[in-house]
Amino acid sequence: MSITDNLNRLKEEIPENVQIIAVSKRKPMEDILEAYHAGHRVFGENRVQELIEKQPQLPGDIRWHMVGHLQTNKVKYLAGFVDCIHSVDSLKLLKTIDREAGKAARSISCLLQMHIAREESKFGFDHDELTDLLENHEFHSLKNIRISGVMGMATYTDDMGQVRSEFRELRGIFNRLKDVFYSDDPDFCEISMGMTGDYHLAIEEGSTMIRIGTVIFGPRNY
Ligand SMILES: *Cc1c(COP(=O)(O)O)cnc(C)c1O
Repeated sequence: MSITDNLNRLKEEIPENVQIIAVSKRKPMEDILEAYHAGHRVFGENRVQELIEKQPQLPGDIRWHMVGHLQTNKVKYLAGFVDCIHSVDSLKLLKTIDREAGKAARSISCLLQMHIAREESKFGFDHDELTDLLENHEFHSLKNIRISGVMGMATYTDDMGQVRSEFRELRGIFNRLKDVFYSDDPDFCEISMGMTGDYHLAIEEGSTMIRIGTVIFGPRNY
């Protein structure tokens, strides 16, 4: 199966309200261009270095999403072009994105990454950190970012019951935030969850953005 075939099959299989973020990390330009020529425009990378190398060499109408952990000192390299940052996990990072977006006269869409996995290693806000953020005045005064929703990564496990309950938890967090803080904000509408191994489940649990690489581009060589 070619990349084009994979994308066409996915587009038939996935509901229209669910966006596909084609995660192209560790994949060459030719592969990204094949997906581009098949009509795909939204790509995701998880490393700043790789993203800033690829972006200038590829068509300007690609919408780039940063899906991996982001350090504040690297925000400046992305702020001029990045469309959406899925991995926002601190006020410090949000303030930096706001400042750099302002310098670039842009507005950047941000997703609050929530720690939903039963694993120490995954990044994201826990319940208390999220509460602190939402009670912070500075947070609500940031003008060059849009809070577009939430993102989460499930535990790496074969236990699909576990994965489902984590996705359901993220959906619950989204719903509460929507009700309490963002009921008048049409920008707050995204739940980024689901990767190659679990995107069907994520869609059943209400995902609006799936971040998928392997199912489009094939396995990565490390
Ligand atoms: C690599 C990656 C993905 C996609 O992984 P696949 O299993 O290849 O679909 C999604 N989200 C993040 C944050 C990633 O780093």
